[in-house]
Amino acid sequence: MALTRKPEAKPAAASWGMGARDVPWEYAAAPESTDHIRIEREYGLFIDNQFAPARPKATFEVINPATEEVLSRVARASKADVNRAVSAARRAHDTVWSRMPGSERAKYLYRIARIMQERSREFAVVETMNSGKPIKESRDVDVPLAAAHFFYYAGWADKLEYAFPNRRPTSLGVAAQIIPWNFPLLMLAWKIAPALACGNTVILKPASTTPLTAYLFADVVRQAELPPGVVNIITGPGEIGMELVRHPQVDKVAFTGSTAVGKLIARAVAGTHKKVTLELGGKAANIVFDDAPLDQAIEGIINGIYFNQGEVCCAGSRLFVQESVYEPLLDKLKDRLSTLRVGDPLDKNTDVGAINSAGQLAKIAELVDSGIAEGAEIFQPDCVLPDKGFFFRPTLFTGVSQSHRIAQEEIFGPVLSVLTFRTPEEAVEKANNTPYGLSAGVWTEKGSRIFKMVSAMKAGVVWANTFNRFDPTSPFGGYKESGYGREGGLHGLAAYTRLDGAA
Ligand code: NDP
Repeated sequence: MALTRKPEAKPAAASWGMGARDVPWEYAAAPESTDHIRIEREYGLFIDNQFAPARPKATFEVINPATEEVLSRVARASKADVNRAVSAARRAHDTVWSRMPGSERAKYLYRIARIMQERSREFAVVETMNSGKPIKESRDVDVPLAAAHFFYYAGWADKLEYAFPNRRPTSLGVAAQIIPWNFPLLMLAWKIAPALACGNTVILKPASTTPLTAYLFADVVRQAELPPGVVNIITGPGEIGMELVRHPQVDKVAFTGSTAVGKLIARAVAGTHKKVTLELGGKAANIVFDDAPLDQAIEGIINGIYFNQGEVCCAGSRLFVQESVYEPLLDKLKDRLSTLRVGDPLDKNTDVGAINSAGQLAKIAELVDSGIAEGAEIFQPDCVLPDKGFFFRPTLFTGVSQSHRIAQEEIFGPVLSVLTFRTPEEAVEKANNTPYGLSAGVWTEKGSRIFKMVSAMKAGVVWANTFNRFDPTSPFGGYKESGYGREGGLHGLAAYTRLDGAA
C-alpha cells in the first residue's frame, strides 16, 4: 500500500505565513494571460531552418503537467532523421559557420539574445505551460538567464584567442546536445550559446516531455536569419538521443540528465574521437552552522530545495544543521514551509508548481514512502492540491539517518531530508558521504570557516550564505557521479574548442 497519496481537495487551510492558525484573508488569483501565446497543433523536426515531419511520419503528445491537457504533438524522429540532421549540421559547419569570423558569429548570437528578450513573455508562458514550473520562476530566472548566456557567449565569439592565448583555438565540429526537462530553455542556452560562439554547429534533442520552448527557439533562429543547418532540433525518445551520440559524424556530445543515462553515453563514446561533457545528478548538502543568520538561512534552504519543485540537479536536498540551533531552525523552517503556495503554475503568486510528469511524481512518492518505511518523520504543510495535474506537497523529513534512501538517492522533487552534526569535521564527512558531488551550501558568519569548508567539500559548486545562484560567467559541473566537464564561463568555451598548441 502506498504510504503517500494525493490528499483530498478540501477548503483552504493553508496559512500563507501564519502557521496553522486562522486565515483572515486569501490571495486573489493572479493568472498570467495566455492570449498572446500561439502553440502549434503539431511541430515537425527543425533541420536546415525548416520544420518538416519525421520520415516516416510519426508524432507523440506533449501535455501540460498542471492540467494534463494536450498542448501539441511533436515529430518522433527516426534514425534517417538523425542522419539528415547530422548532415545538415556537418555541411553548415564545414562550409559556413566555422569559416565565419568570430565577430560575425557574435552578431548572430547578440541577435538571438535580443529576440529572446523581446519575446520573453511568450517564452516564459510556454515554458511554464509545458514544464509545470511557476511563472514567476520562468519569467524571472529561466528566460532572463537563457538570454544572458547568449549575450555572454556573443562577447567571447571574437575573443577566443584571448581566452586561450597561444593555443590557436578552433571549433570541434558537430555537437550532439541532449537536455532534460527541468530547465528546458535554460539548458538549451547553456548548450547552444558556447557551441555556436566557438564555431560549432549543433543538433539539440530536448526531453520528450518539454520540447515546446526549443521549437519556439527554432523560430527565433529563423528570425535571426542564422544560416541553415547551424542549429537543428529533433525530438524523439532516448534511443534517438543514443543514435545521435553514436553517429560517426558527431564530434562532441554534451548531456545533462540522469547518472544512469550519463553512464550509457560515456560507454558509447569511449574509444572514439568524441569530446564529452556530462552534467548528471546531485544530492547537495546545505550546511547551517550555529553562527549563521537563521532567517537568511531559512530563505536559502527554501530556495535550495523548493525552487522548481526541487527538480534541480543541484538542489540542496540534504540539510545539515548544527545541533545547538536545530530546534529553533526547524520551527522556523516548518513555519516558512506552511507559507508556500502550491498550485496553478501560471498564477503569479504560486511558489511550487506541478511536477513535470506522472512518472516523476510516482518516483517522488515512492522515495517518500521509503523514507516513512525506513523510520524518518514526515512533515507536510496542510495545503490544498489541485484536483488535476501532477502536484506534490512540499515535504521535509526529520530523524533521517545517513543510510536512508532519502539521504542517498536523488529524489528530484520538493523533499528535504534534515540531518544534524556537531563539529565541522563531522559536517564535511557527512556531506561528502554520497556518490554525487555537484553542489553544496555553507551558512556561517565566519569567512575562515567558509574557506575551510569550501576546500574540504567534494562538490563542483559551493555557495556561501546563499544557494542556487547562477550566472553565465560562472562555471558549473560536478565531481564523482555528478559527471565531468564544466559549462558556463571561460571553462564552458574549453568544452567546445580544439586547442592545437603553441602558435
Ligand atoms: P534522463 O536522463 O532519462 O533524460 C534526460 C535526457 O536524456 C532526455 O532528453 C532523454 O530523452 C534523454 N535520454 C533518455 N535515455 C537516453 C539514452 N539511452 N541515450 C541518450 N539520451 C537519452 O532522465 P529522466 O527524464 O528519465 O529522469 C530520471 C531521473 O534522472 C530524475 O528523476 C532525476 O533524478 C534525474 N535527472 C537529472 C537531471 C539533471 O539535471 N541532472 C535532469 C533530469 C533528470 P527522453 O526525454 O526522450 O527520455
